[in-house]
Amino acid sequence: MRIGEQSSGVASDELDRGNTNTLTGTPANHTLPASPALQGLTSRPPGSRSSYVPTAGTPELKLRPIEQGSLASTIKAIEKWAGKMEEKALTDGRCLMADEIAIAQRMSVAHPERVRVVIGKLPNPGNASVYLAMSKVGLLGDHITGLTFGYGIYIKEGHDGDATTLLSHELRHVKQYEDVRREKINYLAEYVHQLNQYGYRLSGFEQDAYAHQIPPGN
Ligand SMILES: [Zn+2]
Repeated sequence: MRIGEQSSGVASDELDRGNTNTLTGTPANHTLPASPALQGLTSRPPGSRSSYVPTAGTPELKLRPIEQGSLASTIKAIEKWAGKMEEKALTDGRCLMADEIAIAQRMSVAHPERVRVVIGKLPNPGNASVYLAMSKVGLLGDHITGLTFGYGIYIKEGHDGDATTLLSHELRHVKQYEDVRREKINYLAEYVHQLNQYGYRLSGFEQDAYAHQIPPGN
């Protein structure tokens, strides 16, 4: 997922804390300074089982906008919807073009030929509980410019940001998906877990995507 120029909405308070460059598309190769108190997070923090973990953050920052009790069922509902959205993208989307395949390779995507891109409106879940949960963790709203479900990428038409930066960001999520799947971990569940626990900016997946995306103007 990538946040566009106009950062507003549910997650913005959280997002605005700290490195606001990530909101305006500046790559965060610019990672947050590690502090000794946070060393525990460089290994696998509780609830984070993949190799993508926050490199820095505030362990006390327990957002948990989705309550633990309902997290598993909420993630299941999001997964169900996301599976449909991936299928739809794989059916309706277009293949990457030559220059985009080069971007995918730069992002270390193993199978760029499997990627499909849909440019238009970003999908919105019809299911009210999925909608609410996604809003809570900041995955819905006008500030979102891209969403990736497995090999299916949705790009918001007419967003203000740099197209290459946005596509590279989403393609990096595809690479993460490939990696995490190899680790036999459900990417979406892990992604939502991290958003819920650390917030968007501190999630290991987003830190990695911002660190690798192609900077605007390149
Ligand atoms: Zn993202």
